[in-house]
Amino acid sequence: MLPTIDPTSAEHDLAGWQILLIFALLLLPVLATLFYYLVFLNLAEKWWSFRYKIFPKDIPLNIKTELVNHQSFYRDLPPELKYRYEQRLMVFLKSKKFTPKHMPAVTERMKILIAASAVQITLGLNRYRLKDFRDIHVFPDRYWHKYAGKSFKGHVSSRRGLICISWKHFEHGYDHPDDGINLGLHEMAHAVKLQLIRKDVNFRFLDKFEHWAKVGRKKLDTIRAGKNTLLRDYAGTNLDELFAVSVEYFFEQPEDFRDQLPELFQSMCDLLNQDPIKKELLNQKT
Ligand SMILES: [Zn+2]
Repeated sequence: MLPTIDPTSAEHDLAGWQILLIFALLLLPVLATLFYYLVFLNLAEKWWSFRYKIFPKDIPLNIKTELVNHQSFYRDLPPELKYRYEQRLMVFLKSKKFTPKHMPAVTERMKILIAASAVQITLGLNRYRLKDFRDIHVFPDRYWHKYAGKSFKGHVSSRRGLICISWKHFEHGYDHPDDGINLGLHEMAHAVKLQLIRKDVNFRFLDKFEHWAKVGRKKLDTIRAGKNTLLRDYAGTNLDELFAVSVEYFFEQPEDFRDQLPELFQSMCDLLNQDPIKKELLNQKT
């Protein structure tokens, strides 16, 4: 007796194979994206950090020119801190992904100045790379945040490892370096705190932050009681905003900060391990 052949079985096999192929093709971009974020950027960051530590390189002229022209903080640093700043800036630039949003491109100048705002805050810290914040989205102006249901000038997403910046407001910060308003410093301050306290705990920073928070809560009460001095009232929103706004004033109006809020100023120096007036690190080994 001849075996019966089901004329549709080959078609069924083919259809199954095709489904698998389509599934694999759909999965490929997801796997490629995961590989890019979890492996490639991580390795790239480690490599560039290692590379500049072992084989330091002179900063390219175009980067130096941008810093000299737009970063008064950098301009005033003593040579040894300038060098530390430059090496760190190059690692930061190599290890972040800058994405233009509603604009044609993120220019070299934008990348350099955005990286500079992070390096400025972390200059005194060992952990300066904000390694879990790999994505930086740059918008031309305010942008709509779907989930918050309002527009922002900048925000940081710890879950997505994302920092968003409105270039118009970012640029204002460095065009007016002493008005106490600097979006870049503000958003990077949020990222630094999230990185070193929530994402990848640094116990030295955590310890210093707890001390800062004790002083900060007193300032928060003062602002909420309507007796605010120096910091803009937005600092009274909560402790996180107080910290971010304090970072802006710490670098843009350090003398006024020291004179009007000496305890908060000193706790900022201790936390960030730097004195923005003397242009020096408190502890070279931290
Ligand atoms: Zn904020």
